[in-house]
Amino acid sequence: MATIQHASYDDWQRIYGDVYEALPEPPARSCPNCGHHALRLEFVASERDRMGYAMFWCDFCLFGIWVSRTWVPTGVPFHPYGLSEEELRAIVPEYTVVYPPADEDPEDFEEVEF
Ligand SMILES: [Zn+2]
Repeated sequence: MATIQHASYDDWQRIYGDVYEALPEPPARSCPNCGHHALRLEFVASERDRMGYAMFWCDFCLFGIWVSRTWVPTGVPFHPYGLSEEELRAIVPEYTVVYPPADEDPEDFEEVEF
């Protein structure tokens, strides 16, 4: 299952936008990378203000993006901050994170280690 990454960060972001807009409906779009209908979107956020981050990935090819600082829409379940590595792994597989091209504004960019 060695799928090669060919979707750009922009492709992923565009699909993420569509999926996010459609919440709480499950992702209706197919993976920009492999074309399978296996996209998953999970949030980890604060229970106080529902601000947190999102993990958006494909269960088939295991590529995806990491979205920092997003708001979890009302009615959409999320996981609380402070999950252990094991708890996180039970929810999210180890996927390859696609980052924006290095020549874009790196202002909000943080290296995320899984
Ligand atoms: Zn895929």
